[in-house]
Amino acid sequence: MIEDPDIAIIGAGAAGIGAARRLAGSGLSVVVLEALPRLGGRSWTSQAAGVPVDLGCGWLHSADRNPWTQIAEQSGFKVDRGDAAWGNQFRDLGFPASERAAAWGAFAEWSERLAATPPASDRAADALDPASRWTAYLQALSGFISGDELERISARDYAAYDAASTNVNWRVVAGYGTLIAASLPPDVSVHLSTPLKAISLDGRRVALDTPAGTVRARAAIITASTNVLAGDTIALPPALDPWRDAAMRLPLGNNEKLFLEIVGGSPFAPESHLLGDPFDAATGTYYIRPFGYPVIECFLGGAGARAAAADGRDTAFARAIDQLARLFGSQVRTCLRPLIASDWAGTASIGGAYSHALPGQAAARTALARPYDGRLFFAGEATHTTDFSTAHGALESGTRAAAEALAALALGT
Ligand SMILES: Cc1cc2nc3c(=O)[nH]c(=O)nc-3n(C[C@H](O)[C@H](O)[C@H](O)COP(=O)(O)OP(=O)(O)OC[C@H]3O[C@@H](n4cnc5c(N)ncnc54)[C@H](O)[C@@H]3O)c2cc1C
Repeated sequence: MIEDPDIAIIGAGAAGIGAARRLAGSGLSVVVLEALPRLGGRSWTSQAAGVPVDLGCGWLHSADRNPWTQIAEQSGFKVDRGDAAWGNQFRDLGFPASERAAAWGAFAEWSERLAATPPASDRAADALDPASRWTAYLQALSGFISGDELERISARDYAAYDAASTNVNWRVVAGYGTLIAASLPPDVSVHLSTPLKAISLDGRRVALDTPAGTVRARAAIITASTNVLAGDTIALPPALDPWRDAAMRLPLGNNEKLFLEIVGGSPFAPESHLLGDPFDAATGTYYIRPFGYPVIECFLGGAGARAAAADGRDTAFARAIDQLARLFGSQVRTCLRPLIASDWAGTASIGGAYSHALPGQAAARTALARPYDGRLFFAGEATHTTDFSTAHGALESGTRAAAEALAALALGT
């Protein structure tokens, strides 16, 4: 039996952990219910080839104003402030400097058009230059940034993120997922492998049905992803239809990571980077030997990530190795081994990568973030109007929802 708390938090990802941190010391009892057998949700550092690899979030985006940076440094986690290698193309392989400058110029012009003269349709694709040779490149970047094609991205939503971003990107050496999981206050009661099946409103309490019994809380903070809220794994009361509707307007895109192990001698230089094919919207992008580790991180977005999910792990690894062999020469095949891969789309309690607003639907973030009846509060990256799709946006949303719940319970006593 799980004790009935003042506040139940659904989900132990960055948002749920942020909410628990805000509630610590409030004097209220808090219970966290988490479907997965681990903490962190879409933040997850795994050990592979003896080194920490982030299968979900890896970068402290807007790191100079990212609250996780301060939490890391206060709790003894080392933050690496070195430059990200993304802008580089190792030895210009497959993408010479002049072409990179032209492609980057096309991206900058598109971003500028989006901010200065946003399309009336609010479709980010409608700011593309039809005569440009870099459309596949821009679609690949959209896959990495938003997890989906520009046709399905709200220009207004994208521009709000872009305007708020400081473009400073740092890393936690032990892994972003390690930091986030370690940041849950120690005295919070957490129940892993305990999926919420149904929510109902029971007198002045919220009844939360789980396989371990029904938990009755004075308030609940719900941090499940938009794909979960829009799906049928949690039975929501009809009163929450507008929240489910808002979640459907903010779908998760697709992003997956594949890690390859490097064995023996190889041409791979530490902290280097390659875009696989700038003319393929489904291309992988390769971060080579992060921190000097013997691994390559292949990041897939949009069409590339959907293909990996559809075709399976072995095919996805084979494709990544083929792409690297085309750039480095076929001899590198002998020193690359499939190591570990994410499956965010296939994880039932997650269902994808990170949220983007569909064209015309940027206001759905505010609609999703509204409390219901002074006892249901909504958090999660998708509820942040500027820092959505990030771990710090998730943290801030949890802090916000917890403050709302505290205020509501204080009024109710
Ligand atoms: C491949 C990838 C790369 C990324 N890279 C970055 C990056 O570099 N930097 C960055 O800032 N962000 C990045 N992100 C995004 C970032 O990871 C997320 O925005 C953030 O972790 C979301 O946190 P959250 O708490 O909102 O949601 P989640 O992490 O999804 O947490 C919600 C939790 O609720 C649980 N849950 C769901 N349903 C139930 C239920 N019925 N009962 C109980 N529990 C339930 C889930 O299991 C989950 O643990 C990346 C994400 C991916 C997938």
